Amino acid sequence: MSTQEEPVMEGLKAELRRESRRLRLDFNELKSGGFIKQTQKDLFTVRLRCPGGQVTADKLHLAADIAQRFGRGEVHLSVRQSVEIPYVHYQHFDAITEELKTVNWSVASCGPRVRVPTACAGCTYNPNGLVDTQSMCREVDRRYFGIPTGHHKFKISFSGCPIDCFRSREMDLGFQGVVEPKLVEELCTGCELCVKNCEDEALRMEGSLPVRDLDKCIWCGDCVKICPVDAMVVDRRGWLARVGGKHGKHPLFAYEVANFLSDDQAFSLIEATLGWYRSQGRGRERIGATIARLGLEQYIQEVIHPLGGEAIESPQERRRYWAEGNLYGLRGGEATRKI
Ligand code: SF4
Ligand code: SF4
Ligand code: SF4
Repeated sequence: MSTQEEPVMEGLKAELRRESRRLRLDFNELKSGGFIKQTQKDLFTVRLRCPGGQVTADKLHLAADIAQRFGRGEVHLSVRQSVEIPYVHYQHFDAITEELKTVNWSVASCGPRVRVPTACAGCTYNPNGLVDTQSMCREVDRRYFGIPTGHHKFKISFSGCPIDCFRSREMDLGFQGVVEPKLVEELCTGCELCVKNCEDEALRMEGSLPVRDLDKCIWCGDCVKICPVDAMVVDRRGWLARVGGKHGKHPLFAYEVANFLSDDQAFSLIEATLGWYRSQGRGRERIGATIARLGLEQYIQEVIHPLGGEAIESPQERRRYWAEGNLYGLRGGEATRKI
């Protein structure tokens, strides 16, 4: 190459570097808007926004239609309840976005922001459900979907009962339904069904009446459901909140931090937690890592206490929610967590 050609080549290379940086940026922006780059050149997976996994029939028809016309005639159901359409060329993004609007639908989000919340059926039609997970999930999606966290992704889920199908322990913030039972003594026949049915052995008979051990009860409501004469009733209902969980290469189990939150308290908790994470988080750490670095006590003091809810403060209080023999993070009888 002659010395005259060298500056030209350098200029071209610089231009190429700028172009490739621009394209990388665009891919990031596309991903943050729910268009995920595939292995195949120019093809993307379009992730659709399905809070709580609820999708109406007209939306499903449209997803199938879009998959036929713009994809390869198939959809993928993601582990977080999204309908995804793979093999879409980026030239079709605008057309797809416009078509989605006709059924009041849009793409989901990726990147360092609040993701579409997930939820089980809750009490809508699941016999185990103690709370309305679906309404809560929709409202949380409406209020917080896509809000940037400044650090990393932020996942929220809702489980209707302690069976916890929606794995609130693996979420940045997880909510699970709980109920507090109360005995109406004059109605109780002393049949002992509730005692026999309590898997946590939190009930025992004293004389002819069942008595509850508050250190063992996990607020599952099974005693209420089994009572044949409605002598065991629901005294209060709410959300158990967990914070700091995640899966991935280095999973973390979330901490139980507050119990019997009302819906409004749950919204306040989400807002306060996002604010705390934004100000206390560093770089690309998840909130579980922020808590590990600063200590759970600081989170509880700065976020849970100001809410005025029922804080869960000690490892002993948390142990009730874990299986015997699960020694994850337990050392010397203390529930300290390995990070
Ligand atoms: S968490 Fe409970 S209410 Fe929700 S799907 Fe599972 S069993 Fe049903
Ligand atoms: S709520 Fe559940 S754990 Fe508590 S006493 Fe009733 S059955 Fe037992
Ligand atoms: S199941 Fe109902 S009636 Fe029977 S002991 Fe329990 S509370 Fe009383």
